[in-house]
Amino acid sequence: MPRAVSADRPRSKPKLGQHFLNEEEYARRIVEALGDVSQSTVLEIGPGRGILTEQLGKRARRLIAVEMDRVLAAQLRLKFGMHRNVEIIEADVLAVDIDSLFGPKPGLGRPGIEIKPEPVKVVGNLPFYITSDIVLRLFKFAKYFESIVIMVQREVADRIAAEPGGREYGVLSATAQLHARVEKLFTVPPGAFSPPPKVFSAVLRLTMDPQQQRLGVVGDGFIDFIRLSFGQKRKTLWNNLKGSYDNSQLKRALAAAKVKPTARAETLSLEQSAAIYRALREQQAES
Ligand code: SAM
Repeated sequence: MPRAVSADRPRSKPKLGQHFLNEEEYARRIVEALGDVSQSTVLEIGPGRGILTEQLGKRARRLIAVEMDRVLAAQLRLKFGMHRNVEIIEADVLAVDIDSLFGPKPGLGRPGIEIKPEPVKVVGNLPFYITSDIVLRLFKFAKYFESIVIMVQREVADRIAAEPGGREYGVLSATAQLHARVEKLFTVPPGAFSPPPKVFSAVLRLTMDPQQQRLGVVGDGFIDFIRLSFGQKRKTLWNNLKGSYDNSQLKRALAAAKVKPTARAETLSLEQSAAIYRALREQQAES
């Protein structure tokens, strides 16, 4: 005889972070936060049952939606098969080849004449279990994107938007603010999803506004430096960096940037981190 399931038995964790938005009004507000997409390519991450896809398909010039769940991807293909502007890709968004999706295509245009690819807008109600990985990966390909509108766990939104000096400021905040202007738009309660998550969600708009040129830190090295600086959050800057740099160079770089070795990475503005990084690079170039 089947046993009754106890009401307080813990619910199994939803597969692939699948909390589907079920309120059209929130979907409309998320899509509208992208602005006019009638002339844009939109990349949707994790379309799920298609609540955002439906609205985007009607508005965007071109929509590419990447869904990892095989069954959902097949259902979406059936649903949007007649929409010539919608392409469903069954893939892990962390593995998708973004360069070949959005980079210049060989054979396009005449030799020597580069056709600038059109800027892409990104949108998604992101799966919680890989939110940070997705956000950091998007910034790796920031040159292709114009803006990113994402729904994430509210605490993660707070971390992305955090100012230096607070406990929440970390690699995610520094990376996001190095590339973009961050706006927290609105929160969404658990009841707007099926199944409901345990936490509130929040919608962020990240409008690309690259700071690397202004800070004199063009290239990937600065992000690696930021990661090292935050290494272990409780440690001082000195302790996080001393294993990776010549200690006398590091001492001089901190002095040149007027930063105490006992400071912690979360207290530094991007300008201060950039000053340390530039001073280290100059010394390495001289030695
Ligand atoms: N956009 C839908 C909505 O708002 O109802 C679904 C959002 S749900 C929070 C996250 C979606 O991302 C799910 O459909 C899930 O299958 C998909 N997903 C999870 N991991 C993924 C990955 N690595 N790559 C692509 N999609 C993924």
